[in-house]
Amino acid sequence: MNEPILTIVVPCYNEEEVLQETTKQLTYLLEDLETEKLIHTQSKIMFVDDGSKDRTWNMIEEESFVNGYVTGLKLSRNAGHQNALLAGLMKAKEFSDCVISIDADLQDDITVIREFILKYNEGCEIVYGVRRKRDTDTFFKRTTANGFYRFMQKIGIDLIPNHADFRLMSKRALDELCRYEENNLFLRGIIPLIGFKSDNAYYDRKERLAGTTKYPLKKMLAFAADGITSFSIAPIRFVTLIGMMSIILSVLLGGYAIVQEILGHTESGWSSLMISIWFIGGLQLLGIGVIGEYIGKIFKEVKRRPKYSIEANLNLEDTPRKREI
Ligand code: UDP
Ligand code: MG
Repeated sequence: MNEPILTIVVPCYNEEEVLQETTKQLTYLLEDLETEKLIHTQSKIMFVDDGSKDRTWNMIEEESFVNGYVTGLKLSRNAGHQNALLAGLMKAKEFSDCVISIDADLQDDITVIREFILKYNEGCEIVYGVRRKRDTDTFFKRTTANGFYRFMQKIGIDLIPNHADFRLMSKRALDELCRYEENNLFLRGIIPLIGFKSDNAYYDRKERLAGTTKYPLKKMLAFAADGITSFSIAPIRFVTLIGMMSIILSVLLGGYAIVQEILGHTESGWSSLMISIWFIGGLQLLGIGVIGEYIGKIFKEVKRRPKYSIEANLNLEDTPRKREI
């Protein structure tokens, strides 16, 4: 069997602090895998600059001049992690047999990439990197992430627990991914839907090499909300259920008031009235909010705007590698 051409796609947003080290480690890894004849000598690293404001793109350029493994893709603006990833995957699949995505901070253990390739050679189309333990993450991140995965499972969304965006996909799986045209991307939810033969590879998550997280709380919450609402209408059902329950409750209260009236104890009902008004008002607003969330999604989807624009690329025209490091 011929060795597969591998491309490692690395989305980068303001990652100047880690880029050099990441390039070094990934280059060594590719060299080793090539020597072991596990991958083809045209294998590459593709950095996707997601509209960084620091020197990230300049550094990618400089690296690409001296390191034949390095290729680059520059997006015209910050399109977000998932879109940057998609841009890289779609470009890479044009000239690769399989593509691995990994974060620029190398929190994910690159030594399992060997296992990814072995599993690919055994016929897996998708290999998921799964974190065995994540004690390097903060307590807050750990508990919110665990809660999130549990909640998603409860409402019937099949996620691979503790898998983020560190995975291998074959060209065939990537071609299939293209057919999911939704604008609102939640890759780790969509990819299991493809359904091809897949397997997990386990590793321990490490500390960020340097720099700070590019997923502050606000982005994390938006990402979680996107994940839920693009896959499930459970929140709408939930609101409907609460609505029905509150109607039943109000009928019961009405019955109680009538009985009290017949018995001659008229309710002087200021407080119950106020509470009901606020309660029902709140419920309605909540309901409108949830429905609005979905209408917003439809609004975004129907426009069919491009998810990203590529401004420049490096070393992609000449697939055979012109090296010397
Ligand atoms: N990232 C990106 N665009 C963004 C935010 C993040 O391309 O708008 C990249 C970032 O450079 C990194 C990856 O997404 O390679 C994951 O980000 P980070 O490691 O900061 O997230 P965390 O590990 O803290 O969840
Ligand atoms: Mg990280």
